[in-house]
Amino acid sequence: MKASYAAHSEQSRGRQYPESAIQYRTEFQRDRDRIIHSSAFRRLEYKTQVFVNHEGDLYRTRLTHSVEVAQIARSIARNLRLDEDLTEAIALAHDLGHTPFGHAGQDALNGCMKDFGGFEHNLQSLRVVDLLEEKYAEFPGLNLTFEAREGILKHCSLPNARQLGEMGERFIEKTQPSLEAQVTNLADEIAYNNHDIDDGLRSGLISIEQLCELRLFAESYDEVMAKYPELTGRRVVHEVLRRMINRMIVDLTVTTQQGIDAAKIQNVDDVRQQAKPLVGYSIDLEESKRELKRFLLKNLYQHYQVNRMTIKANKVVNDLFEAFFNTPNVLPHEYQAKINDQGESDTTKARVIADYIAGMTDRYAMKEYNRLFEIQSGYL
Ligand code: MG
Repeated sequence: MKASYAAHSEQSRGRQYPESAIQYRTEFQRDRDRIIHSSAFRRLEYKTQVFVNHEGDLYRTRLTHSVEVAQIARSIARNLRLDEDLTEAIALAHDLGHTPFGHAGQDALNGCMKDFGGFEHNLQSLRVVDLLEEKYAEFPGLNLTFEAREGILKHCSLPNARQLGEMGERFIEKTQPSLEAQVTNLADEIAYNNHDIDDGLRSGLISIEQLCELRLFAESYDEVMAKYPELTGRRVVHEVLRRMINRMIVDLTVTTQQGIDAAKIQNVDDVRQQAKPLVGYSIDLEESKRELKRFLLKNLYQHYQVNRMTIKANKVVNDLFEAFFNTPNVLPHEYQAKINDQGESDTTKARVIADYIAGMTDRYAMKEYNRLFEIQSGYL
């Protein structure tokens, strides 16, 4: 049985365009199903998480990352008796607005858009499900429930929040989103902290010896080696990582349940009125998690070989943006039409171009770059 403080589909704040309920599926199940069938979801397959897709077939992409987030988020949601379908929907949609080339792409596009309202990937994910998907006769986007949309909009700057109506209210009033949204937010972090270690080791950019300096890794590593002293190679890595993921999930579940009980939370309104999120880790685990994040930032995300990708991503995104902005007649017809339909101001033009670039996969962006700037390349 779901808890009283879980999100309940029948009490949803509803969709922007009212639709009647259907038999056999809750509103949150419908949200999840719409996300899985969206084009933006399929594009995640060819978008970078940390390592660009063509560097190796085994690295995480945005798609496999999102599936891992959904798995972790659902485990926690079930432990806390929350709505699993809503949790899964938010997890699968949380990166839909991500640009090609990971954070480097997002930073570059944000730079291009600095005079036109900026670019935030969370806000772009909401734009994808609210406006950009073309699936329905009666409305733009996927017309998701309020609860799925608020979960997708994880962060938002204040100037943008002020333009978002009810969706921006919580950033201004400093209230909290549903527990399902909070859980997915931290499941994202559990997923990437662990899979980035795996991908980092696979790439050779970081080593087990380095990781053993970290409390969170060392504790699980010692446990594995005590139980299997002869174990070597990839099995060691996976035995350690599965223990780390499990530890984080259990700590998060126990700490959050204690917080919910202590604050005498009865329903979603109580959740929303809290000054701080209810979902979180124990102080101890929070500290060792921070240590791990600092390590990954310094040794993996800012490794010189990763930085080289950042330079390329910057160049591709900046050059594409500049070419489209200065010469809009090289844009595909449908994007030229969007600019014309919306009044041709520089701000409109920039936003249409940002939507186009953000929607590109890594390989599509590179192809587009070659088509525009490589003399030898053909039209297609
Ligand atoms: Mg993510």
